[in-house]
Amino acid sequence: MNSSLEGSTTLLNGIGEETAQTLSEMGIENIHDLLNYLPYRYEDVRLRDLKEVSHGEKITIEGSVHSDPTIVYYGRKKNRLVIHLLVDRYLIKAVFFNRAFLKGKISIGDTIIVSGKWDKHRLTITGQDIQINPQERTNDFEPVYPLKGSITIKALKRFIAQAFREFGDFIPETLPPDLLIKYKLPSRKDALKKIHFPQDLSEVKEARRRLIYEEFFFFQLKLQAFRKLEREASIGLSQQYNLKQLKKFIHSLPFELTNAQKKVVNEICKDLKSPYKMNRLLQGDVGSGKTIVAAIALYASVTAGYQGALMVPTEILAEQHFSSLKSLFEQTDITIEWLTSSVKGKKREEILAKLATGEINILIGTHALIQQDVIFEKLGLVITDEQHRFGVEQRRVLREKGEKPDVLFMTATPIPRTLAITVFGEMDVSVINEMPAGRKKVETHWVKHKMLNRVLEFIDNELAKGRQAYIICPLIEESDKLDVQNAIDVYELLSQYFKDKYQIGLMHGKLPSKEKEDVMRAFSVNQIQLLVSTTVVEVGVNVPNASLMVVYDAERFGLSQLHQLRGRVGRGSEQSYCILLADPKSDVGKERMRIMTETTDGFELSERDLELRGPGDFFGKKQSGLPEFKIADMVHDYRALETARNDTATLLEQESFWESPEYAPLRNYLSKSGVLKGEKLD
Ligand code: ADP
Ligand code: MG
Repeated sequence: MNSSLEGSTTLLNGIGEETAQTLSEMGIENIHDLLNYLPYRYEDVRLRDLKEVSHGEKITIEGSVHSDPTIVYYGRKKNRLVIHLLVDRYLIKAVFFNRAFLKGKISIGDTIIVSGKWDKHRLTITGQDIQINPQERTNDFEPVYPLKGSITIKALKRFIAQAFREFGDFIPETLPPDLLIKYKLPSRKDALKKIHFPQDLSEVKEARRRLIYEEFFFFQLKLQAFRKLEREASIGLSQQYNLKQLKKFIHSLPFELTNAQKKVVNEICKDLKSPYKMNRLLQGDVGSGKTIVAAIALYASVTAGYQGALMVPTEILAEQHFSSLKSLFEQTDITIEWLTSSVKGKKREEILAKLATGEINILIGTHALIQQDVIFEKLGLVITDEQHRFGVEQRRVLREKGEKPDVLFMTATPIPRTLAITVFGEMDVSVINEMPAGRKKVETHWVKHKMLNRVLEFIDNELAKGRQAYIICPLIEESDKLDVQNAIDVYELLSQYFKDKYQIGLMHGKLPSKEKEDVMRAFSVNQIQLLVSTTVVEVGVNVPNASLMVVYDAERFGLSQLHQLRGRVGRGSEQSYCILLADPKSDVGKERMRIMTETTDGFELSERDLELRGPGDFFGKKQSGLPEFKIADMVHDYRALETARNDTATLLEQESFWESPEYAPLRNYLSKSGVLKGEKLD
């Protein structure tokens, strides 16, 4: 930054210590900040023709003063200024509050501009603004800025105008010139001028286009540089897996991989073999078959002489993955174990011992895997399933358990591309965009609660065919107690209704894990036909004979979560159904239910969810880790985001980027952000 721009705001007329303090509270510490303080909207102050304006509209008009202004004082220190104006052939009244001081400056015959709310019946404009020197009027659109304390919009505009006059020439260009030319973007100085003092709205648009791109550019420059340097550091493992054995294993699987699975397996294997450290995100819709891919990757790593770890968010899922991997590895000589917080005492010690000697090849578990005393002999591959459930810190700890293991993150929450390239911009992304053959779409219906009886009949019909069903109850409040009570109520209702006919199970987060396991096991072997549960079954659970899901109070769930839940059915060859019991009050709620009935494509759903909710809400505020942008909007401007991603990636591949003085400021930016030193991203 040019040092003039770092100068204090007190260099400007009318800014003393006090005002500077308020400005500082607005985030404006110096001239640079002031010039970069952006309007959030524009007021339309085009001069209007009275014949064309309607009652109640906010308008700006020009007229000539018809008689001496009058003042009425009322209350304490309050006054009303009334001016009669001739506008075209109309005589109108303009009323302003507390502007008595203007009286002396306005004479009959003067042309002035007033703006305010138009009352057609009384031919009165109730004023907001008055300009007594119309020749000073420059813009049809006046920027509106967020304000604080005693700073008025007029004062702020005056500060910005002076700052621009005196320091505008020091505003440096920050983007490479060829990109400016390529996208016909205005220079930085020009953009700031246009955003503060636009002649018309097209200038605002042009300026915004530049500033949005710039914001994304620098954001992506960091991510892409980080990604490139991580890759090139060549500090990872080069896992020489046994291709023959791997092929044999893949052929031994109970089904042929889908093309998407094959493609992804190839991408992962390439990463394993390369000396770079794999840092890959695997996205695949619920039921697309990520577990198999994980198994193949783990197997490859073991044939290369390493150990693998698979971390999942819940005990149930750990157990389920354990048993499905165990059966997949039946024909091999792989030793696989599982570790959760419910594994204690002797058993735990035994596992830890075998892990340290390398006797255990693959360890599956919950976050119990990242405890300090869990030590691998030679950890080569770390996979986390449903990765968004884990905090950044947990993922880091697991990664640091080995020397520099390859890392694969799996997620069934299809992350909209927009978010994926922001949150995971520094990762490689693989996508399984194809379902195993023969899958039928889950037929989804939205019904009101008063139809409950019909729903119960429907459940009865399905169960009579030998199928099973999930009944999901929502989180009523952020209170486990109420949550559980709700599930219990529904459980009792259904137990009454289906008495002596079917076995009904109850599952919720407060059950001891042993009991959870028992219920889940009973359901998976069809000893229980109807499982009433809270969302604990959301993630990963696989019972192919379950072909019906009923979701109580479905409006309480987000789209992504409903989709996750729905993914528990439709896993077998039978037609499956999902019934959403909901009486949503809001339009957004109704829209959600409609979207659910319209599509089963997780990616489409996630895009629409993002539109409805906005990115902040998408992952939940706490762990979102989403960057905040000043002017850009990830959802609306995602094309610019993608463009910036590609441009920065290309730029970083050019040798000149790392050598030419032209790019020194960008390199400087990278080292200031800590990327060039290989430090962690902020
Ligand atoms: P998710 O991606 O949601 O984790 P899973 O890995 O649990 O999905 O797979 C869902 C189901 O699909 C499992 O029963 C699995 O055995 C089956 N499956 C996976 N891949 C294939 C395939 N290529 N052909 C047929 N079935 C498959
Ligand atoms: Mg899964």
